[in-house]
Amino acid sequence: MSHAKQRRALLKAARGMSEGGLTQGTSGNISLRVPGGMLITPTGMPYGTLKASDLVFMSDEGQVGPGQRRPSSEWRIHLDVYRKRPDVHAVVHAHPMFCTTFAILRQPLRAVHYMIGVTGSAEVPCAPYATYGTADLSSEVLGTLKGRNACLLANHGLVVVGKCLDVALKMAFEVEQVAELQWRAQLVGKPHVLGRKEMARVIALFETYGQQRPARS
Ligand SMILES: [Zn+2]
Repeated sequence: MSHAKQRRALLKAARGMSEGGLTQGTSGNISLRVPGGMLITPTGMPYGTLKASDLVFMSDEGQVGPGQRRPSSEWRIHLDVYRKRPDVHAVVHAHPMFCTTFAILRQPLRAVHYMIGVTGSAEVPCAPYATYGTADLSSEVLGTLKGRNACLLANHGLVVVGKCLDVALKMAFEVEQVAELQWRAQLVGKPHVLGRKEMARVIALFETYGQQRPARS
C-alpha cells in the first residue's frame, strides 16, 4: 500500500487527539499532506477502532478512489487549506470543550497566556457561522486563517494548521488550554491581556525556536 508510513503517523495522531480528550466519539478529523493529495480520517468512525487502511486518500482534485471509506465531512476545509497554504502539511479539526464554548459565544481567544503565540498570532479569532461540511464554511475558515494557524468556527469548534502532524496536534492542545484558562479567568474577574508589543516578541521567539514548546517558568 502506498503512503504506508504516513498512514501510520496519521493514525497515531488521530488516536492522540482522542486519547488527549480533544475529541469525543466520532467528532473531529485530522489530515496529512502527501504527494498528490492528502490522507484524512474517515467519517463516522471512532478513532479507537480505526486501522491505517481506514484512512482515506483524496487527490489534489478532491477525488477518492474506489474501495475506500468515505472521507470526513469536513474534507473541503482540509483540501482548501493545502491548496492555499503551501506552508501547511497537517490540519486538525475538533470540537474541544473550551474552544467550542468560546465559538458558541463567538468570542476570540486572546493573549491571556503567552502560549497563544504558538499559533503565530496574538489572537485566535472566530470564523463566521456556516453549515458544517459546506464550501461556505471552508471559505470562512480560509479567510479567518489568513496570517495565523488557528481559528474558532462559530457554534462549531476549532481548526488548527501546522507544518507537520506533531506541531499541529500540540498546537491544538495548547489552544484548548488557553481557552480553558480564559474561561476560568473570566469566571472570577477580568483577565489581563498581554499587549501587542509583548506578543510580537513572544511570536518572534516561537519562530526562532521553530515552534518548539518553550520551557515553562
Ligand atoms: Zn466539526
